[in-house]
Amino acid sequence: MAVNLLDFDLEGLTAFCESLGEKKFRATQLFRWVHQKGASSFDDMSDLAKSLRDKLKDHAEVLALPVLTQHISSDGTIKWLFDVGAGDAVEAVFIPEADRGTLCVSSQAGCAVGCRFCSTGHQGFSRNLKTWEILAQLWFAEHFLRKHLGTTDRVISNVVMMGMGEPLQNYAALIPALKTMLDDHAYGLSRRRVTVSTSGVVPMMDRLGQDCPVALAVSLHAPQDALRDNLVPLNKKYPLAELMSACVRYLAHAPRDFITFEYCMLAGVNDSSEHALALLALVRDSGVPCKFNLIPFNPFPASGLTQSAPSVVQAFSNILTSGGVVTTVRKTRGDDIDAACGQLAGDVKDRTRVGDRMSKQRTVMLHLVRSPEAATHDKPIHEPSSH
Ligand code: SF4
Repeated sequence: MAVNLLDFDLEGLTAFCESLGEKKFRATQLFRWVHQKGASSFDDMSDLAKSLRDKLKDHAEVLALPVLTQHISSDGTIKWLFDVGAGDAVEAVFIPEADRGTLCVSSQAGCAVGCRFCSTGHQGFSRNLKTWEILAQLWFAEHFLRKHLGTTDRVISNVVMMGMGEPLQNYAALIPALKTMLDDHAYGLSRRRVTVSTSGVVPMMDRLGQDCPVALAVSLHAPQDALRDNLVPLNKKYPLAELMSACVRYLAHAPRDFITFEYCMLAGVNDSSEHALALLALVRDSGVPCKFNLIPFNPFPASGLTQSAPSVVQAFSNILTSGGVVTTVRKTRGDDIDAACGQLAGDVKDRTRVGDRMSKQRTVMLHLVRSPEAATHDKPIHEPSSH
């Protein structure tokens, strides 16, 4: 059976090339063709010997995820819904800004953590994505955007693992994907520009610090265990004291000297001045250098939660800032295509509906999406997630 070369980091690809009787440096050449140039046809890889290209044709492929829908927002945000089979779909969102291009990437179909404010959490867990399914989102987006913009320069400068799923609950697939994002022969992203967002899987935070330290964002959402138990059920397993200690340990390895705490603002639940003061006490007492990112909640009916008023968010931000903690309020992007945080893959929560839609669209879309060169149509999508 042919292996998908998107499934390998450079070390894995080297082992694969050696298994074909090829020299190590062939793996580097191949890696560059696939990731830097977006090639999916071995015939295009002109500096590889024909004998190697023939072997690759027999044993390997470069297979993208089928794109079900693509939707471009009026603010330039682009959301893609990818078919990962068996009625599941995951989303990636590209967010262009003046000084950067950020891709929000999914790590799982669904999520087992079940945060109350997250539409992905409400849909339940389907399965872990494989390394190639994580990387295929970046591979497709980068090369699609280059073609779309008519450039050979890198378009995506930042990756945030903040799409569907808890990345640290899919650790084995995540690490080769991160290593490929960082590899100079692939995407060459700086460790500071690749962010893993976690709801607080403490043992895996420690492993990430050892294996592949990148920027870390932690979904906090509450200053006390009782409230966090309710909003982020994983807190019952890894309560705040353990989480804060893990943050301190992580910083010994991290490429940045702070942790970003994500905090979804929920009216009447976690948005009072007392909560803000308790947060200040929490980070001060635990000694975690940090920044806060306040996230406007994107309401969905099943949550039973509502959005904090902008004035409340601003007052909350002012308290944190006055307490000496850099605090930002996340800009809402892609509102008109439901690409705002907490909305990722909300459509997928109704698997039947997604299944119906997939079957209708598959015929139209499949021929467009087997390679980045192919997909150029704008199609409506729905919803991103929300660590
Ligand atoms: S916020 Fe993140 S960890 Fe929580 S349910 Fe959503 S995707 Fe899972």
